[in-house]
Amino acid sequence: MAQPAGTTEETSGAGSAPVWTAGRRPRVVIIGGGFGGLACADGLGGIEADVLIIDRRNHNLFQPLLYQVATAALSPADIAEPIRKSVGRHRNISVLLAEATGIDTAAKAVLLEDASRVPYDILVIATGSDYNYFGHDEWRQLAPGLKTLREARMIRQRLLSSFERAERSDDPLERRAALTTIIIGGGPTGVEMAGAVSELGRYMIRRDFRRIHQDEMRVLLVEAGPRLLAAFPEELSHYAEDYLRSIGVEVLVSERVVAIEPGSVQMGDAHVACGAVVWGAGIKASPAAAWLGLGGDRIGRIPVTPALNIENHPEIFCLGDTALAMGEDGQPLPALAQVAKQQGQYVASVIRDLTRGRAQPRPFRFHNRGNTAVIGRNAAVFDFGRFRLKGRPAWFLWAIVHVYLLINFEKRVLVSIQWMFRYLTRQRGARIIDEKPEFSEGEEVPLASAAVRR
Ligand SMILES: Cc1cc2nc3c(=O)[nH]c(=O)nc-3n(C[C@H](O)[C@H](O)[C@H](O)COP(=O)(O)OP(=O)(O)OC[C@H]3O[C@@H](n4cnc5c(N)ncnc54)[C@H](O)[C@@H]3O)c2cc1C
Repeated sequence: MAQPAGTTEETSGAGSAPVWTAGRRPRVVIIGGGFGGLACADGLGGIEADVLIIDRRNHNLFQPLLYQVATAALSPADIAEPIRKSVGRHRNISVLLAEATGIDTAAKAVLLEDASRVPYDILVIATGSDYNYFGHDEWRQLAPGLKTLREARMIRQRLLSSFERAERSDDPLERRAALTTIIIGGGPTGVEMAGAVSELGRYMIRRDFRRIHQDEMRVLLVEAGPRLLAAFPEELSHYAEDYLRSIGVEVLVSERVVAIEPGSVQMGDAHVACGAVVWGAGIKASPAAAWLGLGGDRIGRIPVTPALNIENHPEIFCLGDTALAMGEDGQPLPALAQVAKQQGQYVASVIRDLTRGRAQPRPFRFHNRGNTAVIGRNAAVFDFGRFRLKGRPAWFLWAIVHVYLLINFEKRVLVSIQWMFRYLTRQRGARIIDEKPEFSEGEEVPLASAAVRR
């Protein structure tokens, strides 16, 4: 029989070990203030528990729009919001800016980078994922992925600096290399980036540069598998490929990158000189499985029970990209924001029930709201299972969903206005180079020449 909260030891549905000791407010620690962690925290606002969010960044990041920062359409602040601001209205929730490095499950404490310890009664692991360089971590600097604002700014810096380099060079090989961008990985991130870089070149070069021409620009999208957007139905993959080709992207499928060096990428025997490389080929979970002494699956995800906690540790929940949770079809749930958010809301409801003495949670059920990828200015794909959408209607739906999902109202309005303005004018608003690019020394700087304009 369920016990009233705070009078005895509480148990969760996945096991019978005590979750917290009677007579005091439980302490809930959430590692990670991303999609899943924040959804969970939001559901715990005002309950009879002290909640602490630990994150190594002070902001929540809307990763689906990172590619727009990388391609100078949005500014970093448009897609990030301080975690403290997101949860500030809940007096029982506090935030700690710190990096977790381990978990002492016996003592029930999170270990931090600076060797301090944070005790918990209930722990929620929501540490997300990172790009998988498949054993080539040395590629990360040369081919940043799109996971953080720093990486997005690094990509923007490299793209814009390459255009500057091409503008002042008379060497055809140097120009060709500087105007070549290689995107590795044909999933949603790679497809979005390829479309956005191509559009950046087409509209911005034509208007703002004098010595380079948009036709000199090359965008290569390299995918090791046989088709783009492998998680989508074939029909939508083909649409994406055809659309990208129509805007000048060179799509290379069944092509594997074997080496990345400064200024070039090797595919098979071919070395392609380039100005910028972007990585979007596969993800791996955060190292949280190792903190628990678990092996994790192929990409390091922590297996969880249907109640999203960990076998033999009912007090530890895990969700989002770092959890291996099974869907109703017996397949692992995908690494998507909607999965992480729904899981965060579910775990919050389980914890709320625990604090009220209800201890038998129903298993988590994922409600699929559709999978989407944007390909270009008027093109996207939407997969709702039996119902599919592509082209302009899918793009409008994508835009509405993404603006709606932007965390706070103020930003939704701001970003919608900016988007609408840029949609109509084709302007790129955030074309900022943070650091001065390196140019070849001692060369004569050519003046603008009408000869290169076509
Ligand atoms: C470029 C890109 C585009 C995407 N587009 C879409 C899309 O269009 N639609 C969609 O549904 N999904 C999309 N996704 C996937 C979606 O963003 C993720 O599935 C989602 O963010 C997972 O949520 P999460 O809470 O598990 O992790 P995250 O949202 O990544 O949050 C993890 C948090 O944990 C923190 N953290 C990690 N390790 C530590 C540590 N050791 N100590 C302290 N804090 C830590 C991080 O700082 C971060 O704040 C995209 C992802 C990327 C990268």
